[in-house]
Amino acid sequence: MDPLALPLVDCHAHLYPPNFESDEIDAIVLQAERDQVSAIVVVPEFPDDIQTVQMLAKKNAVIHAAVGLHPVQKGPLPTLTETPIAPHQPRSIQLSEFAFLEALDFSALSRVVCIGECGLDYSPHILNTLLPIASVEQQKEVQAAVFQKHIDLAKSQSLPLNIHSRSAGHYAVDMVIQNNVAASSLLHAFDGKPSHALQACSHGAFFSVAPIVVRSPHLQKLVKELPLTNLVLETDAPALGPEKGVPNHPSNLALAACEIAKIKGIPVAQVAQITTENAHRLFRMEK
Ligand SMILES: [Zn+2]
Repeated sequence: MDPLALPLVDCHAHLYPPNFESDEIDAIVLQAERDQVSAIVVVPEFPDDIQTVQMLAKKNAVIHAAVGLHPVQKGPLPTLTETPIAPHQPRSIQLSEFAFLEALDFSALSRVVCIGECGLDYSPHILNTLLPIASVEQQKEVQAAVFQKHIDLAKSQSLPLNIHSRSAGHYAVDMVIQNNVAASSLLHAFDGKPSHALQACSHGAFFSVAPIVVRSPHLQKLVKELPLTNLVLETDAPALGPEKGVPNHPSNLALAACEIAKIKGIPVAQVAQITTENAHRLFRMEK
């Protein structure tokens, strides 16, 4: 049996405009299904994305929805519209923006399998945007407070978390362990130290591996050190592709599985089987 004939799960993708044109998404999903992708968790970033993801999930059985707000939002601050921030300029999320999620009626939403994309982004270029309105420390505190609200929401909805952490891996790991939600957490595109990732694994956390693993020594190291029982696959499409500057899509998922097999010296069929089982367990998806 062709090992790649086994189903694969894309645990984190951004299949909506402006990342992709609306009229190309159906074809991308169809091609992914032909390439053995049995489920795609589509993760919103901004408030408007949430309804778009809902529409996609209603239309395509392979798509599962997430609900959450990325720690990096864009444009003027909701409370200080006169601040000179350009409409699409990335900046740290504000506490007041979480009200959008509090106002959502979860019982009216379809096929929601997790809370996300949420988390912490302590990249200097993000934290510098709001200086001098808010200090770097203040922005970190606000991001942590918004992430805590996502964790509380995940607990109240009995849903797992789909977590972004950049230049903040250690802090994200600490928060999921302290909140006792590590076993229902997926840390995507983790750029922290393998020692912190291993600490999270010992509490049951999952880490996702994208096709960029073929050209990322950091991710290769992480794959080498973490047990397969804690790994799942993602594309983060259109980001984290195998080729620099070329948009990524869910059909590339098998490349990540093959690279994990190579690094660990195990059959790719085993990688496909275990990562898919892990994803089904984490998101409580039907096989
Ligand atoms: Zn993402």
